[in-house]
Amino acid sequence: MIAEEDLGKEKTEAEKKGEEETDEKEEAEFEARRRMLVEGLETLGVGKKVLRAMLRVPRHRFVQDDLRKVAYIDTPLDIGLDQTISAPHMVAVMCELLELSEGQKVLEVGAGSGYNAAVMAELVGKSGHVYTVERLDALVNFARGNLKKTGYENVTVLHDDGSIGCLKYAPYDRISVTCAAPKVPKPLIEQLKPGGLMAIPVGDYFQELTLVKKDKRGRVTKKTKGGVVFVPLIGKYGFRHR
Ligand code: SAM
Repeated sequence: MIAEEDLGKEKTEAEKKGEEETDEKEEAEFEARRRMLVEGLETLGVGKKVLRAMLRVPRHRFVQDDLRKVAYIDTPLDIGLDQTISAPHMVAVMCELLELSEGQKVLEVGAGSGYNAAVMAELVGKSGHVYTVERLDALVNFARGNLKKTGYENVTVLHDDGSIGCLKYAPYDRISVTCAAPKVPKPLIEQLKPGGLMAIPVGDYFQELTLVKKDKRGRVTKKTKGGVVFVPLIGKYGFRHR
C-alpha cells in the first residue's frame, strides 16, 4: 500500500531502466580504466598471475563514494582516520614478492579497505584463505562491508592488534604487513610456517620493504627490496601512538 504522500515518488519503469543503463555504463568505464591501470603495471614487470588477480578486483568498490572516479589512478587514497588504501603498484609488488598460490593460508596485518586482501584472495583461490587483522573498528566494518558486497568469502576480517599476529589460525604460509613496523615483530616470525614468506615495511620515516624467509629448517633471513612509504603499525610490537 502506497501512502498518499509517497504517490508520485515511485520510480517509473523508464526511470528504473535509465538507472540500470547508467550503472552498466559506469561499470564498463571502471572496467576499462582498471584494464589500463593493469596494463601499466605489466610494464613495471608484474607477473601474469598477479595482473590477472588485479584485473578481477573492482578497486572502485573499496574506496569512499567520492573517490570512485579516481580509483584506477596508481596512487594511495584516503579511507578515513588518517589511513589509506595502498597504491595498486604497491599491492602488486607485495603480492609478487610473496609468490602467492592456490590453497595458501595468508595473514594480512592492516585490512584497511579490504582491497589488498581481495587481491590475495584471488591468488590463493577458494581452497586458500586470507585472515586480515585491523585495529580500527570503523575500518573493520568498512573492509567487511566492501568484501561482502564484492563477494569474497575466503577472507576473514578480524578486529585486533595485528602486531601480535593471530595465533588462532597460525601458522601461515604467507604474511603481508601493510603498515610500517620499527622491526619485524617476533610473533609474526613465530607464526610463519617453515618455507614461508613475509613482506613487511620496516622503519620509521625512512622505511624499507623487507622480505623475510623462513626455510624448511626454521632459519630466518631478511632481504630489503627498496624504500617505501606506509602508515605506521601501531601496537604491542609496533610503534606507540604518534
Ligand atoms: N591493506 C589495506 C588496503 O588494502 O586497503 C591498506 C592498509 S593501510 C596502508 C594500513 C592499515 O594498517 C590501516 O588500516 C591501519 O589502521 C592498520 N594498522 C596499523 N596498525 C595496526 C595493527 N597493529 N594491527 C592491525 N592493523 C593495523
